[in-house]
Amino acid sequence: MRRNAHAKIIKQMNIGTLLKNIRAHGPISRAELVKTTKLSPTTVSVLVEELLQEGLVAEIGTGESSGGRRPILLEFQPTSRLAVGIAIGVKTTTIAVLDLDGKSLITNSYTPDLSNPQVFLQDIVNYTKQILDTSKNLGPNILGIGVATPGLLDPDKKNILYSSSLGLTDVPLYDALERNFSLPIRIDNDTNAAALGEKLMGAGQRISDLIFVSVETGIGAGIIIDNRIHGGASGSAGEFGHTTVEPAGFPCKCGNRGCLGVMAAEPAILNRAIQMLSIGAKTEITTYHHGSPAQITLEPIVRAAKHSDSVALSIINDCLDYLAIGIANLINMFDPAAIILGGSTLEALHPLGIERVRSTVKKRVLPFHGQRTYSIIPSQLKDRVKIVGASTLVFSEFLDYVDVLATDEDRHHVDGYRIVD
Ligand SMILES: [Zn+2]
Repeated sequence: MRRNAHAKIIKQMNIGTLLKNIRAHGPISRAELVKTTKLSPTTVSVLVEELLQEGLVAEIGTGESSGGRRPILLEFQPTSRLAVGIAIGVKTTTIAVLDLDGKSLITNSYTPDLSNPQVFLQDIVNYTKQILDTSKNLGPNILGIGVATPGLLDPDKKNILYSSSLGLTDVPLYDALERNFSLPIRIDNDTNAAALGEKLMGAGQRISDLIFVSVETGIGAGIIIDNRIHGGASGSAGEFGHTTVEPAGFPCKCGNRGCLGVMAAEPAILNRAIQMLSIGAKTEITTYHHGSPAQITLEPIVRAAKHSDSVALSIINDCLDYLAIGIANLINMFDPAAIILGGSTLEALHPLGIERVRSTVKKRVLPFHGQRTYSIIPSQLKDRVKIVGASTLVFSEFLDYVDVLATDEDRHHVDGYRIVD
């Protein structure tokens, strides 16, 4: 029995190695796979046959001959497995069918009705039905439905307990989907899903310990430890936006004062700008914003900052410094190999945001970390991070056996792109 289990693990690892190589280096011949994977020709031949039958790879013609018969080339088939991703947002909810490369094959978006929880749930069900109908021609390969939602979930990841941004409490999301669909359903907080998305299909590939930090109207963190989302004892880890960075700071909705979210998220930047404009500060922001101070948006502040306007820069940098202090604390606490910065506000601030965060973190983090590898890198999936993240809630279970055990070689790869110095 134990011997069988052992053989099964080895087989899965070998299949994983082959699939990774075909995915990364395809089109590739069996002979080249023997060379790159160091597996025996028989093992490669038997396992490739299995991958062909599963539809995960396909033979796509012949390559150059090195004498003798022209070799048959193999290619990874990302559309052989699909997932429905649902990214719930305040302004827009996106539903898509995605493939194993994180590409959306069909996408649909709508504005959610947040005034009535029943309508909110019924809309999700209706739009999901619609997209499943449209995707019938894609074959029976949909592995499940993954949902990325703002807010706090119960430990079983079935109900939204509370979301301040959606303004909803106790929403039975899992039951609503389960009643209507026979597919497996996976639900998680959107920042956790985003972290997993970056880990499997974005900037965090091959990195086993990373933290995705999102800055929008609020701030959140998705923590990946040893390739898994770190949920904590009750599933609510990652409430980075409610860590205190200023004891006497502004009051937060949570009842505390000086939470990172109120000190550094987008509304904090806008409020500082409103203050400066209201006292008539001399700033280039007024070149790009002609309305009343209260109607300011992020864009004119960013434009002025990119033209080196000192007022705009100090508004943005004050907020980014709070963020960086929080990130330095995360690095000291969790020792991640990478911090991935995302969310619409940081996207808009790019590259000013990441540059300031890197330099402030360097000053704030324990000096010991200066000798070590940690990178602060931008999100690779950008505005698609939540929908791709939603799909990876489903794909992660399937990809697990593809991504079995990160190798030492992979760890060196991470060292190779050290960014902070
Ligand atoms: Zn708070």
